[in-house]
Amino acid sequence: MVLQGDLYDITVVGAGPVGLYAAYYSGLRECKTKIIEMYPHVGGRLISMYPEKEIFDVAGYQRIVAAELIAELTGQAMQYDPVVVLDERVSGLRVLDERLIELTTHTGASHYTQAVVLTVGAGTALPRKLDVPNLISLEGNGIHYFLPAFEPLRGRKVLVVGGGNSAVDWAMALENVAAEVTLLNRSYTWTAHEAMVEKLLSSRVKVRYPYYGLKAVLGDDRVTGAVIWNEKSGLEETIAVDDIVLSIGMLANIEPFRQWGLDIVGDGIRVNTDMSTNLPGIFAAGDIVTYHGKIQLIASGAGEAATAIHSAKEFILEGVLGR
Ligand SMILES: Cc1cc2nc3c(=O)[nH]c(=O)nc-3n(C[C@H](O)[C@H](O)[C@H](O)COP(=O)(O)OP(=O)(O)OC[C@H]3O[C@@H](n4cnc5c(N)ncnc54)[C@H](O)[C@@H]3O)c2cc1C
Repeated sequence: MVLQGDLYDITVVGAGPVGLYAAYYSGLRECKTKIIEMYPHVGGRLISMYPEKEIFDVAGYQRIVAAELIAELTGQAMQYDPVVVLDERVSGLRVLDERLIELTTHTGASHYTQAVVLTVGAGTALPRKLDVPNLISLEGNGIHYFLPAFEPLRGRKVLVVGGGNSAVDWAMALENVAAEVTLLNRSYTWTAHEAMVEKLLSSRVKVRYPYYGLKAVLGDDRVTGAVIWNEKSGLEETIAVDDIVLSIGMLANIEPFRQWGLDIVGDGIRVNTDMSTNLPGIFAAGDIVTYHGKIQLIASGAGEAATAIHSAKEFILEGVLGR
C-alpha cells in the first residue's frame, strides 16, 4: 500500500531546462511535485555540454550564458518547493492502477505518483561520431564532442564540423578565443538559424561549404591536423589544427522508453497535441518528444512543459471528479 504522504501529484523525470520549467509550472498549478534527475546536478545539457555558451533564442533574454539560464530556471522552479531527487536514474515505469504510477530508479528506490511528465531530453544519448581514421583513438586528445569550457582552446587552431545550430554557435563562440577557427559543412544547406549563419559568414571563421567533410584526423598522441575533402569534386587538402569539435548530432538511447510500453517514433516518444503519450497518466515534453513540426529548442520545450503539466493536472482532476 502506498502511504498518502509518499504519493505525489506530478513527478517530473529529468531536470534539464524543460524539466525545471515543468516543475515550476506544476507548483504554480498547486500540484505536489517531485523532480528526479540522474546526475548529481540539475541543468541537463546546458550544464553538461555548454555551460559557458551564450543562448540568444529564449524568450525574454537578448543573450544569456547557459549556466545563468539554468540558475534562473532553478530559482523559478524552487519557489514552490518541489522535492528534488538527484543522482537517481529512473529505470522502470509501471502504471499500477488508475492514477497510481510507480517509478523505480537504479538505486532500487520506488517513487509513487498520480501522473508523470517525462523531460528526459536526449536521455543517455551519445554524440554521433564519424568513421574516419584516428578519430576515436584521439578522443580526449584534441577531439571534442562538446565544450564545457572555452579557455583551454585559447590561442589554438580549431576545426568545427557540422552545419547545425550547435556547430555554428561553437564556431562563433570560439571566434575571439581561438587563434583560428575553420568550420566544415558537408551539406548544401544549413540547419542553423539563418541570422546566425549570416553572422558566421561575415565573421573571422573560415567557412568551408558546401560538400566539405572530414576525411582523416592526423596526429600520434594528439591532434596535429586534419585531412578535409570536397565530397563533390573529391579534392583533398591537409590543414594544421590543434583541436577538432564534432557537432553532428546525438544518438538517442530510446530503448528503455520502448520497454516501458511507450510509443516510439524515430528517436522520440510520440505525443499528442496535449503532450499525452499512449500510456495513461504519462506525459512528455522537450527534446525527447516527437510530433509533426517538432523543433528541439529550449523555448519550444518550455511551451510543451506548460501544456504537459496542464494536461497532467486535468488527468488528475478527472480521477477526483470521477470517484
Ligand atoms: C551544443 C548545443 C548547443 C545548443 N544551443 C541551444 C541554443 O542556443 N538554444 C536552444 O534553444 N537550444 C539549444 N540547444 C538545444 C537544447 O540544449 C535542448 O533543446 C534542451 O537541452 C532540451 O532540454 P530538455 O530538458 O528536454 O533535455 P536535456 O537538456 O537533455 O535534459 C534532460 C535531463 O534529463 C535527465 N535524464 C535523462 N534520462 C533520465 C532518467 N532516466 N532518469 C532521470 N533523469 C534523466 C538528464 O540527465 C538531463 O539532465 C543546444 C544543444 C546543443 C547540443
